[in-house]
Amino acid sequence: MYAIKRELKLNHKERTLMARHSGYARFCYNYALSLYQGVKEFQGASSKKVAAIERVFTNHVKKLPEYQWTTTLSSRVYKTTFRHFGEALSRCFKGLGKFPRFKRKKDGDSFTVDTADWNHAILLKPQKSIKIPTLGTFRLKEAIPFPCMAQTFTVSRTADKWYVSFAIKAQKIPPLFHPVVETVGIDLGVSTFATLSDGNYYESPRPLTKAKTKLSKTQWRNRNKQLGQRKLGLKASNNAQKHYRRIAKIHGKTANQRRDFLQKTTTEISKKYAHIRIEDLNVSGMIANHKLAAAISDCGFFEFRRELEYKSAMYGTTVELVDRWYPSSKTCSNCGNIQSMPLKERVFYCQNCSAIINRDLNAAINLAHYSFSGKASSV
Ligand SMILES: [Zn+2]
Repeated sequence: MYAIKRELKLNHKERTLMARHSGYARFCYNYALSLYQGVKEFQGASSKKVAAIERVFTNHVKKLPEYQWTTTLSSRVYKTTFRHFGEALSRCFKGLGKFPRFKRKKDGDSFTVDTADWNHAILLKPQKSIKIPTLGTFRLKEAIPFPCMAQTFTVSRTADKWYVSFAIKAQKIPPLFHPVVETVGIDLGVSTFATLSDGNYYESPRPLTKAKTKLSKTQWRNRNKQLGQRKLGLKASNNAQKHYRRIAKIHGKTANQRRDFLQKTTTEISKKYAHIRIEDLNVSGMIANHKLAAAISDCGFFEFRRELEYKSAMYGTTVELVDRWYPSSKTCSNCGNIQSMPLKERVFYCQNCSAIINRDLNAAINLAHYSFSGKASSV
């Protein structure tokens, strides 16, 4: 089971339709939350409580004249919204998440529609359009890659673009042939994104750095705008709202570029190399180091590793995680001598055998040569 996400190509009318359904989902969620908080009988961990709230909504609220507009929209939206609310509650009671919060318009738009069950799943053809249950057929920017079945569809908006994502029951057939069968070690870094032990490397895409400059410039130029503050009862000025939209657009663009870069890189690596070794990064620990934080959370190291891992099933690769305490950058890949290597030093100069090698390449080679001696954590 994995998910496919495609950008929708919508006209004005369709955009309005999506926005109305997002508003409907928000309304239902907030309605459920306020009823849950306001009525004692509804409180508690039982899933029956959410079902009771849903009954009130179906039998009373939807019939009120002021809520007649709900009848013109897809009823699957409120079904899935109540389900999401119930899931959020049970996550909270299990200690896995925070108590649900009211959804605000500025948090973004999204909603989910589904068919009753897998027996009614929709067959999606490999073409540039998609049938979304109860909503209709919509055009896509990029075609669906192969025929597949899907039951749940989530429509969401990032800046001014609308997307649809759906989980499919399918398995891609992994290619049986990898050009490189020798183990490859991958070192992730801030200056060069990924260095491979065979000398190949991947640089972070340039537009990403450019977009960051653009973002800080936009934020600086708009520093005097009257921003909204609900606690003080201040409304954002029209220009500030324009500013918010501009910022959201830049954020969306950066996120897209990063996702694109990571997807392409991990696919390329998974297709080429049969055995991959990568450091088991203590990402949260690295982000706690505030100097490295921005650089790292932005690079998507964790996402890179996650993608390599789930693609291993699709491409038949093995991904091995090397113990995070293994001193891959401090060890000489030539003679095994261990010496201190401050972060700023980009070249490894061995004090024992006088080998000179790029810091990241040295680390990658060490990862490739690492001997697991029974403590391997392969994925
Ligand atoms: Zn050495």
